[in-house]
Amino acid sequence: MSTLLTQRSLEAICQLPEASGLRLPRRSGYGFRCPSINSAGKGGVSLVYHRIDRGSVRYSLSRKQEPGVVVVAAQQQDCQRLLDEFRQACDTPQGKLETVVDSMVLEMEAGLAADEGCLLKMLPSYVENLPKGTERGVYYALDLGGTNFRVLRAVFRGPGEGCTQESEIFTIPEDLMLGKSEELFDFITSVSSGTLIHWSKGFKVSGTVGRDIVEVLRESIERRNFEMEVAALVNDTVGTLAGGRYINGDVMMAVILGTGTNACYIERAEAVPKWKGPPPKSGIHVINTEWGNFGSPTLPTTFADDELDRESVNPGEHIFEKMMSGMYLGDLVRRVLLKLANAGLFGGAVPEKLTKKGSLVTPDTSKMHADESPSLEILGEILQKKLELDSTTLEQRKVVYSVIDIITRRGARLAAAAIVAVLRKIGRDGRSGNGKARTVIAMDGGLYERYPQFRNYLREAFVKLLGEEAAKNVDIELSKDGSGIGAALLAACHSKYGAQQ
Ligand code: ADP
Ligand code: MG
Repeated sequence: MSTLLTQRSLEAICQLPEASGLRLPRRSGYGFRCPSINSAGKGGVSLVYHRIDRGSVRYSLSRKQEPGVVVVAAQQQDCQRLLDEFRQACDTPQGKLETVVDSMVLEMEAGLAADEGCLLKMLPSYVENLPKGTERGVYYALDLGGTNFRVLRAVFRGPGEGCTQESEIFTIPEDLMLGKSEELFDFITSVSSGTLIHWSKGFKVSGTVGRDIVEVLRESIERRNFEMEVAALVNDTVGTLAGGRYINGDVMMAVILGTGTNACYIERAEAVPKWKGPPPKSGIHVINTEWGNFGSPTLPTTFADDELDRESVNPGEHIFEKMMSGMYLGDLVRRVLLKLANAGLFGGAVPEKLTKKGSLVTPDTSKMHADESPSLEILGEILQKKLELDSTTLEQRKVVYSVIDIITRRGARLAAAAIVAVLRKIGRDGRSGNGKARTVIAMDGGLYERYPQFRNYLREAFVKLLGEEAAKNVDIELSKDGSGIGAALLAACHSKYGAQQ
């Protein structure tokens, strides 16, 4: 089998003192200081290798077939150094998280004061009424996430009678996420008013940005001759807030941690200087923060974040989301593993799959992270299945585990800081004002729901940032698919048929 060693790993090998027991094929005219390295100065040299035991590899030059045993200690040192550097770059000690909280609060204030030029859009959601439990009627909610599209049918029976719901989930075909709006909305309908500002999370649908998306949906419903009226268009965070509020009046905030991330919360009307419309009768605004777009020098970004961003469909945008949400965590892991593989993590051979976007996704890395066996067997199986790495040493698997842990921990802790920033903004962080009031955060999203390590890291940082006492008054409650039922409820309370006055 022929493989390519990088110049760096070859140089590292050449620099190893002979005392380390290394036998270099010095007599060879090519040796390790072969002309292709010294003169051309780039790239590697084609070598033949056989694995002889863990941690060491027998190399022979393909030109002269001179064997030389090379202990891969140099590569291991290289990888360890890279891993340590990466861990350090991702570090989020308490003090760092505090600066993230502070800068996010400032950005929230800026976004509430001005329409343009702010990182956080802080969009008032035009939701005048939140559900009261009096809603009636049959509603269909179409919930478009970043991966899944859910259709939900909800029947609300009025005061004290509760509701029933049925739903079905479809995966959005990738070509539609990057295609034309008609195709996407025709897909949606095969199963009021609002304007789409921009797509995030890997969507790039032409013909929608700046258009009234309800109109696009209506056109599609018309093309199919359905008897349906579009009653409301709400952001999924706002849906989750409404769904949570239907059940629990202490819900003040909703967070999505799924394919992407975002949050909305209940703000006092006076705290929104940019609002030029009539003051809302309810005295509140539901503000969609669009926090995925948060970006700040306080964020601990690395080469992997920069690379991922550059190659994304929305470079320079949604930097915060790209550090933590389900769409990206797995790919960040892949990028770091690729760098380590180039430094010799897998013995000089770089698995072809590792170079391909999409070969490792968050559900894979979360399964690997859940492996508690001392030999990291499950992690090894996933490496084999997803990256075609046929045999790995425990040392290598431990490195992979560390990379996943570092990235997940960073993401979860940043998510915690963002939640605390919102609580601080509304005086529910236990430091001021309503500190003693009970506060519930409605959480929706596959990442939070299905990734226990992420959840635990988030919770740990959250309690530390708030302080144990204050944290006792705040609950994060999973509101599974709350966004769909919440949207149906909002349709009910904003529809001429639904609200019981
Ligand atoms: P959407 O974001 O489309 O509304 P979900 O809330 O169900 O959908 O979230 C889906 C996302 O959750 C996927 O993109 C994936 O990254 C993440 N996810 C799904 N399963 C797991 C898992 N087992 N571990 C970690 N993340 C997961
Ligand atoms: Mg969703």
